[in-house]
Amino acid sequence: TLGTEWALDWVARAATAVSEHRIDLIELDRAIGDGDHGENMDRGFTAVTAKLAATRPESAGEVLKTVATTLMSTVGGAAGPLYGTAFLRGAKAADGELDAAGVAAVLEAALEGIRARGKAETGEKTMVDAWTPAAEAARAAADAGRSPVEALRAAADAAAAGADATVPMVATKGRASYLGERSAGHRDPGAESSSLLLAAAAEAAE
Ligand code: ADP
Ligand code: MG
Ligand code: MG
Repeated sequence: TLGTEWALDWVARAATAVSEHRIDLIELDRAIGDGDHGENMDRGFTAVTAKLAATRPESAGEVLKTVATTLMSTVGGAAGPLYGTAFLRGAKAADGELDAAGVAAVLEAALEGIRARGKAETGEKTMVDAWTPAAEAARAAADAGRSPVEALRAAADAAAAGADATVPMVATKGRASYLGERSAGHRDPGAESSSLLLAAAAEAAE
C-alpha cells in the first residue's frame, strides 16, 4: 500500500518535473494562452516543497492537503484553483494507506473537483482530458485486481495519451477558447502538466 512516504516522494518528483519542464509548459501556454503556465506551476511546487519541509505530515491525505492549500495560494490563474480543488478532494478521499481501489478513489475525487470547479467536459481541450482517462484507467486496474503501483502506472500512461489527444481539439473552455479554431494543432498546457504530475505519482510508487 501507499502512504506518507509515497505522497512525499510524489510531491518531490512533481516539483522536479515541473521545474525541468517549466520552459515546455510556458511554450505550450504561449501558443494558445498567456504563456505563464510553466511559471505558475514552478512557483506553486517550489512553495509546496518549502511548506512540506517545514511541516511533518502523518498521512498521504495530510500531504495532499498541504499541496492543495499551497497551490491555491501561490499558483493563481485558472490552474491554481483547479489543481487546488483537485488535491483537496484527493486529500479527503485518501483514507489511510492506499491500495489500488484507494488510488482510484483519490484520482476520481481529484477529477470530480476539477470538473466541479471548471465545468469542463472531456473534449474541451483542458486538463479534464488527462484526468478523465487517468481516473478510469486506475479504476479499471483496481477492478482487475492489480496493485496500487500498476493502477498508478496505468493512470499515468492514460494521462499521457489524454494529453496527446488534446492536440487536434478546439478549445471551448479557458483562455485557449478565445482562439476558437486556431487553438487546434497545439497540446493543452494543463493536460500536459497533469500528465507530468501523474507520471511523478507512478514513479514515486515504483
Ligand atoms: P491561465 O489560463 O489563467 O493563465 P494557466 O495558464 O496556469 O492559467 O492554466 C491554463 C490551463 O488551465 C489550461 O491549459 C487548461 O488545462 C486549464 N483550464 C483552464 N480552464 C479550465 C476549465 N474551465 N476546466 C478545466 N481546466 C481548465
Ligand atoms: Mg496561462
Ligand atoms: Mg495567466
